[in-house]
Amino acid sequence: MNILVANLGSTSFKFRLFRFDGAGAAALLAKGGYERVTDYGKAIDDCLAELQAGGHVRSPADLHGVGFKTVLGKNLTGCLRADTDERVIAALDGFKEIAPAHNPPYALGIRRFREKLPGVPLVALFETAFYQWMPEAATRYAVPQAWYEAGVRRYGFHGASHKFAAERSAELLGRADIAERVRQLYQTGPASVASAATGAKPLRVISCHLGGSSSVTGIRDGVAVGTSMGLSPQSGLPQNNRVGDLDSAAVPFVMKTLGLSLAEVERQMTKEGGLLGLSGVGNDLRDVRAAAQQGNARAQLALDVFVHSARHWIGAYLVELGGCDALVFTAGIGENNPDLRAAICANLGGLGLELDPAKNGALRGAEGEISAAASRTKVFVIPANEELVVARETLRCISAQN
Ligand code: AMP
Repeated sequence: MNILVANLGSTSFKFRLFRFDGAGAAALLAKGGYERVTDYGKAIDDCLAELQAGGHVRSPADLHGVGFKTVLGKNLTGCLRADTDERVIAALDGFKEIAPAHNPPYALGIRRFREKLPGVPLVALFETAFYQWMPEAATRYAVPQAWYEAGVRRYGFHGASHKFAAERSAELLGRADIAERVRQLYQTGPASVASAATGAKPLRVISCHLGGSSSVTGIRDGVAVGTSMGLSPQSGLPQNNRVGDLDSAAVPFVMKTLGLSLAEVERQMTKEGGLLGLSGVGNDLRDVRAAAQQGNARAQLALDVFVHSARHWIGAYLVELGGCDALVFTAGIGENNPDLRAAICANLGGLGLELDPAKNGALRGAEGEISAAASRTKVFVIPANEELVVARETLRCISAQN
């Protein structure tokens, strides 16, 4: 089965082609992409021509599905057929104000794929899908009812990544039952993931997706109970250049005192906040860390704020879950920065969480356990591969419907 994953940005089109064997193992056959895209129809033609030239597919009939990591939709989430379910594009259009850089290109791209590849199943995996079973109290802001009815609530993002962390950590902890149920979550719903049904102990995981964009999610038996990102990816931890959590009073305050327009406030919050705003150095953690090592106090402060915020959210889910069986680090920062992992896990021995400094120091960009032998909470690094997650979910969605 050949599954193409299409990653659409406001002016970019990236793709990866995976081939799944009968046992479900995936091989990456091809990857590529185009920048400054003005015509998605042409980009799709170019992509197919590249795949044909590479000998991977002879015609569209050799493509068994195309997956899209859509961000969020109005009144719609999950893993859904985008070729036959008209609600997908309508939901993306309905929330283009919340995700202006992502929803319009995905809606347009899906339309073009429908035209270019009639009959090829298209699947939208919403980043919000993993949070559809969060308790309502974890999803609501204390806003006027009309705001809530307009869509102002906590949705959560990085769903593909956190779901993979839930599945893989369950496997690493020897809980094949939970791992299998997490795999089927979008097909069968959470009823199938209740430990109560099997009499087994609940599995409590806190997943830290720390990268250019970061979030922390609490997961019980493979189902999210809460997450640090809310209405938009402009929330939770400090992001690369996007502000994280912010008191809403800050917006009218800077408009009045600094004379900024709403458009300018929005631009600064999404382009000049986060690690960049704090450090003044850059939005890439490597640059921030290098500056901190050379004595730049603002850069060190940016790292300290990032660590403080990660610990704040881990603490929230430690309480919510009543403890933690596995803490997972994933994504660019989580996978590659032992010193930040150590800072995030510092002084948690009293809560049963302790790193093995040698294992932690040695592990970069690969999977492994980094907790001390005596640590009650296991700490894992699990590399993220969001395209593979989308490809797997696409295949499951198509298979479940055939
Ligand atoms: P992501 O969004 O998952 O690609 O993560 C991007 C972030 O991960 C950037 O802030 C990078 O500085 C950081 N990162 C990626 N690779 C490395 C690396 N090898 N060492 C340190 N940080 C890294």
